Amino acid sequence: MALVTKSIKGTQDVLPQESHKIQFLESTALEIAGNYGFREIRTPVFEHTELFQRGVGDTTDVVQKEMYTFLDKGDRSITLRPEGTAGVVRSFLEHGLYNEPMPQKLCYLTSCYRYEKPQAGRLREFHQFGVECLGTASPAADAETIALANELFSFLGVHDLELQLNSIGCKDCRKEYHKALHDYFESRKDELCGTCQERLDRNPMRILDCKSPVCAAIAKDAPKVLDYLCDDCRAHFEQVQAFLRTMGIPFTVNPTIVRGLDYYTRTVFEFVSTEIGAQGTVCGGGRYDGLVEEIGGPHTPALGFAMGLERLMLLMGAQNLPFPEPERCSLYLASMGDKALDRAMQIVAALRQEGVYAECDVVGRSVKAQMKYANKLGAKFTMVLGDSELDGGKARLKNMDTGEETEMTLDTFEGDFMRLSISESLKELEDLGVDTDIDVDAILNSTLF
Ligand code: ATP
Ligand code: MG
Repeated sequence: MALVTKSIKGTQDVLPQESHKIQFLESTALEIAGNYGFREIRTPVFEHTELFQRGVGDTTDVVQKEMYTFLDKGDRSITLRPEGTAGVVRSFLEHGLYNEPMPQKLCYLTSCYRYEKPQAGRLREFHQFGVECLGTASPAADAETIALANELFSFLGVHDLELQLNSIGCKDCRKEYHKALHDYFESRKDELCGTCQERLDRNPMRILDCKSPVCAAIAKDAPKVLDYLCDDCRAHFEQVQAFLRTMGIPFTVNPTIVRGLDYYTRTVFEFVSTEIGAQGTVCGGGRYDGLVEEIGGPHTPALGFAMGLERLMLLMGAQNLPFPEPERCSLYLASMGDKALDRAMQIVAALRQEGVYAECDVVGRSVKAQMKYANKLGAKFTMVLGDSELDGGKARLKNMDTGEETEMTLDTFEGDFMRLSISESLKELEDLGVDTDIDVDAILNSTLF
């Protein structure tokens, strides 16, 4: 296929048949985050490369191998964001958000870019929903943030996700742990994969995250970070667990979780599924008490998570979870001749102003072809306008579900149609068992319309 008609490897289009699903995920995520006090922040898709080198960490796979970095025309090194946190923290500093009341609870929906080997659930352009809670060291904030991710999954009906929790301690307790890890892996250096041999001196904790089965087997018997926590970190971790128990959120402690980015301290967690293949981590997060300082700001303990939306979609597909249906066309107004089309366009415009999804012919097709199209759209009502309807001032509205026809007066059509379609919707709700003691005229006269 010609290059111009083929998308770049590791990228995906969202087609109109699917976009309502992702819209639903995004609006649900923002709404639930809003209930927890998180407000949306939007940052640019590219930043100075140095931000990610400092923020994500020089020794991470992300910075070492996966970033889309290029020189712009002014010879500046620019990187497409590989994750959301660094940009949010940069913005937090640039705009002095640390002077605002704490904590600052921020959330985002973003695209991210990583040069990885594309496979199911692993793309080069992917999307995340993420949250960051800045300015609190309290374990209550850890529990609250985890609860938010958990609530989103529950709301969507996602099940059999395991929340795995760990603490990787602070800078101080980690020093001793790094040494123990280094000694352990050094003794089995020859068996490790090439990448892990390189990681050994730079960042031995990374080896625990290696996907190679041989390294994973060796890592199983490695010293456990939880045995090296200082008293403060241990107490913090215990309190996080206690809060989660209070909130009835099940979890397992998995001492091998270390996360792929360097900035994490203390609590780290992942929501993991076994149903979507090897890329089973749908959401990952944790504390990053040193990051804001690392980027040049005041000491600001903080934490967050990021959820991979493509992986979430895969999982919801694997679990056959329902999405709301896309909005259905309420009225297709077919027309015969220019005068009728003119009237149809006026009516459709008036209905759209009232928030109704209505369509008329913008192709110039025969009435038969228009009706075929209305059927394909799944229009709930159709009506045909021709010279005789215009002359008589009346036309027949057809309910496409029941076949029932109602004669409508054109002069009062918009209001009458609104009344009728609201009554229809109420009937549908009643059929679903919802009590609808609602006055249609009151709705029509309200400020909603
Ligand atoms: P993994 O171990 O799977 O590579 P990660 O530790 O690199 O994940 P994070 O940087 O923590 O992932 O990103 C948070 C979430 O973003 C992941 O849990 C996952 O759901 C999603 N994600 C990360 N990388 C990709 C990718 N290349 N394609 C699709 N989703 C991704
Ligand atoms: Mg990764």
